[in-house]
Amino acid sequence: MQEIQVRVKPDFVRAYTEGYPLISKESIVSWESVKEEGSVLNLVDEKGKFILKAYHGAQNKGFGWALSTKKDEQIDASFFTKKIKAALEYRKEFFLDESTTAFRVLNGEGDGLGGLTIDYFDGFYLLTWYSLGIYEFKADILEALKNSVDYKGIYQKKRFDSKGKYLDEKDDFICGEKAPAPLIVKENEANFAIYLDDGAMVGVFLDQRDVRRTIRDKYAKGKTFLNTFSYTGAFSIFAALGGSSKTTSVDLAKRSLPKTTEQFEINKIDVQNQEIIVEDVFNYFKYAVKKNLLFDMVVLDPPSFARSKKRTFSASKDYVNLLKEAIQITKKGGIIVASTNSANFSMMTFSDFISKAFKELKGKYEVKERFSLPKDFRVLNKFKEGNYLKVVFIKKLK
Ligand code: SAH
Repeated sequence: MQEIQVRVKPDFVRAYTEGYPLISKESIVSWESVKEEGSVLNLVDEKGKFILKAYHGAQNKGFGWALSTKKDEQIDASFFTKKIKAALEYRKEFFLDESTTAFRVLNGEGDGLGGLTIDYFDGFYLLTWYSLGIYEFKADILEALKNSVDYKGIYQKKRFDSKGKYLDEKDDFICGEKAPAPLIVKENEANFAIYLDDGAMVGVFLDQRDVRRTIRDKYAKGKTFLNTFSYTGAFSIFAALGGSSKTTSVDLAKRSLPKTTEQFEINKIDVQNQEIIVEDVFNYFKYAVKKNLLFDMVVLDPPSFARSKKRTFSASKDYVNLLKEAIQITKKGGIIVASTNSANFSMMTFSDFISKAFKELKGKYEVKERFSLPKDFRVLNKFKEGNYLKVVFIKKLK
């Protein structure tokens, strides 16, 4: 692979020296010299002193990621093997816990390899490439993974067209044996149906594991539970397993009905007692208000950005209104689980949204608990933006 020396502008030297991993165009004196994705960049200061080695890969965030602070590091299979082995070591206890067989084993820059994640699903490994740049290292990274783990099979997702979206190239399967469809994995004793070869998403977002467990073990018993933006119903499954008196799952996507039904069935929960509604959440709120429906628990987990036929939703602009809708159909003393995966704002700002929503409705609330990413979604102290998940359990007092 081609190596290029690039000079860092003085204002940015300190951040890179201290471990900030994301390479921006603005920080480099003549970015035009960097042409190909996958190029290895040697960042130097004004005096030509080595700072770090990085690679060029264009993502919605930034133009590349730091790889090494060693000048002579070769970026090859043995380099990637070191990274993967360290990542596996960090998650040792996950491999020993038989009640959970789905977790992340490498979390991009958190494990020193920005642009790539590796997830584990009961013996199968899923690589997700977030830029063409990191994908250029595929052969070495695959070799490194094969050297480091016993696997049943290896799959991949490419998420690097110009909009950072999924490239449906029908080459999700890489090697080993093919996974059953669905592949049944465990999360804290519960079952999930996973599809490794069926589009951009596999059926469950692993980063909400601790939130799901908390809902099941501490909150759901005897409660009516509304799950909005429910996707495959993962929160509803845990609420039902925790003894919820009834769950209602609402999602716009037609596939959510069969997918959610399947998740209930593989957990031996009687689907007849659960409601699964394919509808725009905002219409459902109107309906609920008209029918005077009130819930003990309401989960809000919208995408950070979504465009439907009638409206666009942006978490940073519209979360306050979403909360206001939810507050109105939550019982006094009930719990709202407000979640966002938007990296555009902090936990502090999210807390302000909550405060604003209650204030505008002249309500009162108490924060019961907060969650960010779980341990396997490792993040760097020097890159707080990497901790995108924010979940707040809010008790409605008034
Ligand atoms: N809470 C889910 C993940 C949500 S992903 C989980 O824990 O697994 C976001 C979901 O929001 C998608 O399934 C998408 O179909 C749905 N969605 C987006 N806009 C919507 C809208 N206006 N009304 C209902 N669902 C919507």
